[in-house]
Amino acid sequence: MTKPQVVHENMDQFATQNGQLLIGGKNLDSIAAMTGKDVFYAYDAAIVQQQVDLFRQHIPSAIQLHYAVKANPYVPLVHRMVDWVDGFDVASQKEMLVALQSGMHAKDISFAGPSKQLAEIRAAITAGVTLHIESELELSRAIEQGVQLGIKPIVAFRVNPAFELKASGMKMGGGPKQFGIDEERLFEILPDLDYGQFHFRGFHIFWGSQNLKQDAIIEAHANTFELAQKLINVTPVPTLTVNLGGGFGIPYFPGERRLDISPIGQHLSELLGQYPALAEIELVIELGRFLVGEAGIYASKITDIKQSRGHTYLMTNGGLHHHLSNSGNFGQVIRKNYPVAIANKMDHEPSEHKVTAVGPLCTPLDTLADKMGLPEAEIGDWLVVFQSGAYGPTASPQDFLGHPHVSEILL
Ligand SMILES: *Cc1c(COP(=O)(O)O)cnc(C)c1O
Repeated sequence: MTKPQVVHENMDQFATQNGQLLIGGKNLDSIAAMTGKDVFYAYDAAIVQQQVDLFRQHIPSAIQLHYAVKANPYVPLVHRMVDWVDGFDVASQKEMLVALQSGMHAKDISFAGPSKQLAEIRAAITAGVTLHIESELELSRAIEQGVQLGIKPIVAFRVNPAFELKASGMKMGGGPKQFGIDEERLFEILPDLDYGQFHFRGFHIFWGSQNLKQDAIIEAHANTFELAQKLINVTPVPTLTVNLGGGFGIPYFPGERRLDISPIGQHLSELLGQYPALAEIELVIELGRFLVGEAGIYASKITDIKQSRGHTYLMTNGGLHHHLSNSGNFGQVIRKNYPVAIANKMDHEPSEHKVTAVGPLCTPLDTLADKMGLPEAEIGDWLVVFQSGAYGPTASPQDFLGHPHVSEILL
């Protein structure tokens, strides 16, 4: 009897059958037969739905769930999510068009992003999506374009909060930032704006991303409610919505654990009691990777196995041109291994002998897994990288070195 390979303490979201990893009930040979491709991303819709359900189960129903499309803009996935979430947040004109064509109502789409160009501002105003204003000049441009188009822009202010996240993860607020308008500046300008020139929706307070510490998120929420209330107090017109940010992370590296969102939800209930004016308006949490990251795998074929001075290299047909974040070159400081497995040997024991999996690019950066304990691999085996449902193909330099682009499938 062989013990199953330990891929990662948390990687239990997919079923297996006869040692084969299943994505949406299909093993990788079947997916390859369906798509005609032997290197691909596969996303399991049921797992995305489970993550949405988890949010609904623990987060008070007064808080809406938006999907941050940039995490995974694969069109079939975005289309499926229309029925599962309350709105989409987009960060470019292209994402805006994907969101609109999915059937999501314009009123439930918001457009954030620093350095918006006039064409993007005009597109958003014309479509009727909410512009998350990131600078004072951007506000005057939106007003001006609105006058030209004969349509009042729908506006929310993205706030760069003074508070900073007290934990690891990606900080996107506090201190000097290219995102949003500093809260102290907003306190100065909010009382005197000409609110007749635009439809004022509210505020977008975004403080960070990829956080796995419940306590840090709880503290950020307390700060966010306090700040939102203060902003509302100095705004002479009604605030209709506050986007509370997102930040829920997923485990990527050894030792990381899944976020427990139940205490986060309990705390949000308390905050709703503490801030009745906020409880009356539309509140939104926007999530990307938490919804889609765990649902995706990146699969490539082992096409050669070679030894170099005692170390084994698994050579694959996939690499960093398809999956930059797994290579450690997308915001990480030091490279750590994403969880990986041999998808057709899920019931095999890992070998004592650590191996390195690499791709076809002529750069040592093209490492898929470094010194990992995997089962004894053979040519033709499937190497899979888990936690690959977010920031995959569209966050990767697919044309670097001119190898074929990767395909995607939603199952
Ligand atoms: C990138 C981004 C998100 C999504 O971040 P995740 O870590 O994928 O959840 C949400 N909101 C804004 C404003 C963003 O820029």
